[in-house]
Amino acid sequence: MRGWGPPGRSAASPSAPASPAGRYPAPRRAPLWTCLLLCAALRTLLASPSNEVNLLDSRTVMGDLGWIAFPKNGWEEIGEVDENYAPIHTYQVCKVMEQNQNNWLLTSWISNEGASRIFIELKFTLRDCNSLPGGLGTCKETFNMYYFESDDEHGRNIKENQYIKIDTIAADESFTELDLGDRVMKLNTEVRDVGPLSKAGFYLAFQDLGACIALVSVRVYYKRCPSVVRHLAVFPDTITGADSSQLLEVAGSCVNHSVTEEPPRMHCSAEGEWLVPIGKCMCKAGYEEKNGTCQVCRPGFFKASPHSQSCSKCPPHSYTQEEASTSCVCEKDYFRRESDPPTMACTTPSPITNVKKGKIAKNSISLSWQEPDRPNGIILEYEIKYFEKDQETSYTIIKSKETTMTAEGLKPASVYVFQIRARTAAGYGVFSRRFEFETIPVSVAASSDQSQIPIIAVSVTVGVILLAVVMGFLLSGSCCECGCGRASSLCAVAHPSLIWRCGYSKAKQDPEEEKMHFHNGHIKLPGVRTYIDPHTYEDPNQAVHEFAKEIEASCITIERVIGAGEFGEVCSGRLKLPGKRELPVAIKTLKVGYTEKQRRDFLGEASIMGQFDHPNIIHLEGVVTKSKPVMIVTEYMENGSLDTFLKKNDGQFTVIQLVGMLRGIAAGMKYLSDMGYVHRDLAARNILINSNLVCKVSDFGLSRVLEDDPEAAYTTRGGKIPIRWTAPEAIAFRKFTSASDVWSYGIVMWEVVSYGERPYWEMTNQDVIKAVEEGYRLPSPMDCPAALYQLMLDCWQKDRNSRPKFDEIVNMLDKLIRNPSSLKTLVNASSRVSTLLAEHGSLGSGAYRSVGEWLEAIKMGRYTEIFMENGYSSMDAVAQVTLE
Ligand code: AMP
Repeated sequence: MRGWGPPGRSAASPSAPASPAGRYPAPRRAPLWTCLLLCAALRTLLASPSNEVNLLDSRTVMGDLGWIAFPKNGWEEIGEVDENYAPIHTYQVCKVMEQNQNNWLLTSWISNEGASRIFIELKFTLRDCNSLPGGLGTCKETFNMYYFESDDEHGRNIKENQYIKIDTIAADESFTELDLGDRVMKLNTEVRDVGPLSKAGFYLAFQDLGACIALVSVRVYYKRCPSVVRHLAVFPDTITGADSSQLLEVAGSCVNHSVTEEPPRMHCSAEGEWLVPIGKCMCKAGYEEKNGTCQVCRPGFFKASPHSQSCSKCPPHSYTQEEASTSCVCEKDYFRRESDPPTMACTTPSPITNVKKGKIAKNSISLSWQEPDRPNGIILEYEIKYFEKDQETSYTIIKSKETTMTAEGLKPASVYVFQIRARTAAGYGVFSRRFEFETIPVSVAASSDQSQIPIIAVSVTVGVILLAVVMGFLLSGSCCECGCGRASSLCAVAHPSLIWRCGYSKAKQDPEEEKMHFHNGHIKLPGVRTYIDPHTYEDPNQAVHEFAKEIEASCITIERVIGAGEFGEVCSGRLKLPGKRELPVAIKTLKVGYTEKQRRDFLGEASIMGQFDHPNIIHLEGVVTKSKPVMIVTEYMENGSLDTFLKKNDGQFTVIQLVGMLRGIAAGMKYLSDMGYVHRDLAARNILINSNLVCKVSDFGLSRVLEDDPEAAYTTRGGKIPIRWTAPEAIAFRKFTSASDVWSYGIVMWEVVSYGERPYWEMTNQDVIKAVEEGYRLPSPMDCPAALYQLMLDCWQKDRNSRPKFDEIVNMLDKLIRNPSSLKTLVNASSRVSTLLAEHGSLGSGAYRSVGEWLEAIKMGRYTEIFMENGYSSMDAVAQVTLE
């Protein structure tokens, strides 16, 4: 310690005499038990945060600290050990009775490990001077802390005045004898920082000028932003800057299998926090993000671009057997246009291109066309849409099984636009381009008619004779069944009431054609069909035979059981009617031992379904009533019911695919409401979906539908109602209308966008009724386009007249599909969170043990971090959150 000591004060000056024992309460060491308690607590409770790196922690040094006291009888180390026999490096000095104290305690050299700003945390106790009787003029309640920078360990012999003062340290709490007697140890913690540092290390020094201090621990540390992976970029451990307000910009590097368009950067704050992320990495095509890494897409899944979030299941009729696929290849005989995105299903046919005009008259145009080059299986029928040029809102649709058709009832000298598309088991192909043909003027037609008179006269005569022959034939025997052995066209001519059940009726030119007129999307009167309630028939069997075709059981092959219906098993199988292609079908059976009422109710569904013909309504093929088991045969929907299908494929579809499903359901419902049919039980479980993701409304019935539905509950007014799906006026006073179906449609929208989530989760039916009555509505599903959620809210207007009509819903969805960018704006997370808190949190949060569990239960698990970051870590805290 040569050279040590302040000017004017002798390094060798003797310490002041000790206080006379017994006269003053002798300053004394803290008893060992106090130290043990204190040190054990310190070791466990005061572990450093992860963004602090210790350069020295006197509590963790096992051997000699190597600190030096000057003069030697000033600071002294208490040679105690803790319960693990580890030394407790506590230094104390207490020369409060002696004049001119100048006691220094010097640490050993501390490397700063490259940090330019360091922190010193002191833990100490300080004796309250007032507690020392005798009016001690010399007693102090502070001490000083100094540092001296040096590149190596040789700087320790420098003079006292070369040290730079960091600060005078005072106690927040000082202790008295009484405190000690009560075993209360008032430990002070003070932190000071020093910077910028320019050398490799430094010494610290503690100067006592006459206080009674126990320095329990000294921790020296610097702060860093710990290595982190954010937005798929790795940011290295970064020591904070020298300045307390400095933000260091740090470049991140993309994790394996990820790429970037804007290089990722973040800022390391002086407090060791990462702030202001800029840019990001994205998993490259064929990889998806999981837990901060990029994982390969499994076989059967693909990701086309780094911008897509996750790997998606191959679209219908495509596959991949490779890992890391960026697209899926179409199955044999299925195609995707080059301009189609890889998310699109592979389909056929390609459109019809070759449309030729045939005979053109003043009121009619005949056309013919060729089958498409690559039909997707057997063509079931063609759909021909036509309208007068520039009058597109008023169009006619004809269905034909032939490759020819004649449009009649046209205006003379007018141009008509035609478009044709084919339908196969895989659904409709795209419409052909527009073909324009003009009817001939009246004058031209008249002159040609004159020249045709002799021909017509002969034709009429032949026609009358033929008609007489046919009538005679028909009157001699009945032929009214479309069973396996009969010709359907004869049925159509013979018995008008059977026309419908034999399939296609209305076109004059061909019994295989059906014609419908549309105006502004509505079917035009007088051709409009309305739904006939089978209850209006005295004999329910008559209703079945009016609307449903009787099928011979021998035409049906049952293959396997696919579900359980209220009346018996539901099977899949095949239907082969004579002269027709074999079809995959679903077969509902009526279990043996049924009552007459059960049979009536079972077949009631067929009587209703048989009245409908729309691509988004489940199609009835016919019924088997003349043999047992009694069966209802419908088209087969490969993917079964929509709710189960969505749950199984959670998150697998693009928004456009989901909107496509919703569009189909809305179109089916529009058709039903135009027919005057109110469904009453519209829900995702009652929608069926086929392999092309075409959705069709099913489950028709009268009151019995509700009786069957496991979701239906009895209301106070009697009758069963599926509460969560039903409009308030229908629950309250059974006011079921198309407007109440619109409410249910809104719930179906919610189910679809949330992939089969249960509306209102686990709330009881009573709570749902109450909440809805009070104006609460389901919150937006996660990642829901704002336009869709708005439409849901519109469907849930209390005033049923303010809800949109189904044709408006279809139009709106069509607009969204035509303009997919309108679906990019999502309901923002914070409003979703606050709505949820308002609507679900208050109603359901009490049942959960942790915030995480609650958020998981309401499918908001991904927000857990946000809640934690904002201090909502307990359910109590969540309960305090207000909407604001
Ligand atoms: P349902 O009695 O109509 O509710 O039918 C019971 C179950 O059978 C449904 O949930 C479907 O899984 C299945 N199912 C009914 N009809 C069809 C169909 N046409 N195609 C495929 N699966 C069907």
